Amino acid sequence: MDLTQERQTAIAAVRLASTVTQAVQKSLVTADTLQKKDRSPVTVADFASQAVVCRALADAFPGDPIVGEEDAKALRESGNVARLDSVVTRVSAAVGGADTDQVLDWIDLGGATPDASTKRYWTLDPIDGTKGFLRAGQYAIALALIEDGQVVLGVLGCPNLPIQGGDGQGVLMTATVGQGAHAMPLNTAATQGTAVSVSDVTDPAEGRFCESVESGHSDQDDSARIAGLLGITAKPVRMDSQAKYAAVARGDASIYLRLPTSAEYREKIWDHAGGMIAVTEAGGTVTDAFGKPLDFTHGRKLEHNRGIIATNGKIHDRVVQAVGQVIG
Ligand code: AMP
Ligand code: MG
Repeated sequence: MDLTQERQTAIAAVRLASTVTQAVQKSLVTADTLQKKDRSPVTVADFASQAVVCRALADAFPGDPIVGEEDAKALRESGNVARLDSVVTRVSAAVGGADTDQVLDWIDLGGATPDASTKRYWTLDPIDGTKGFLRAGQYAIALALIEDGQVVLGVLGCPNLPIQGGDGQGVLMTATVGQGAHAMPLNTAATQGTAVSVSDVTDPAEGRFCESVESGHSDQDDSARIAGLLGITAKPVRMDSQAKYAAVARGDASIYLRLPTSAEYREKIWDHAGGMIAVTEAGGTVTDAFGKPLDFTHGRKLEHNRGIIATNGKIHDRVVQAVGQVIG
């Protein structure tokens, strides 16, 4: 399977979107406390990021459905003119000119709902980890390509993730099925990157685990019990977004736990597709909290999965067992 063009397009799209999110985040930090409780900057960046990525995908692969987190319905309402203007200004600056109707249409390109017969589709989280974005922590622009129910390509742009063994921050991680996972600086034009691999840890007790900052997204009491069962003494590394998958993929952590906080919640495909392939191509394993493979053939959600366990692979079975003892 030759995905060279898909990979290049996805990398360029995520990079362009990340220039938008970083510009918005800069203005957010300077405007500072005034907007601390105001979610509108993140909303503007979310819409603008989705417009930029969908435009690039539609240009290169016009027939491909896109499953994006956002839609332009609210933006089209008359009460949202100011917000819409901000979105159009951001997109226009990034792509070298765009009018309002174009921007709305690009956002709505992300409205596809895949089913079992959808041969191939993209899924996009234009800003994964909006809470992290607002607190100037971790967030990601997450894009993935799914063919015949398999994630075959993933690109994560992580503007605030430190460069491993280097200086500065901003990491772009890519993974192509059968070809490994690679990391490169986000804010350059590099396209090859350095191969990344998961940690060598074979005793779960020596592993570090990561989880959401938000206790509403993953049960932190359960994870503490699981860590206890596995003999893990290191404190959990808490971060927002799919940067957690990147951390496991490059060996910063050996385990990412996402433990259901309710019986009803189903994970969204765009929250996991890109991160999952980064970990598996780096040599790790990703399943749901019950050890089941993630199933991307049931629309916009992982309807038949609950929770997530990502590990370096070597300790996966033991982690699944410990999770089962606590939540089973
Ligand atoms: P994180 O940054 O890892 O905490 O994940 C952020 C993502 O959590 C968002 O993109 C949401 O789609 C998702 N989310 C929202 N509510 C829940 C929930 N109850 N359980 C798990 N994930 C959730
Ligand atoms: Mg998300």
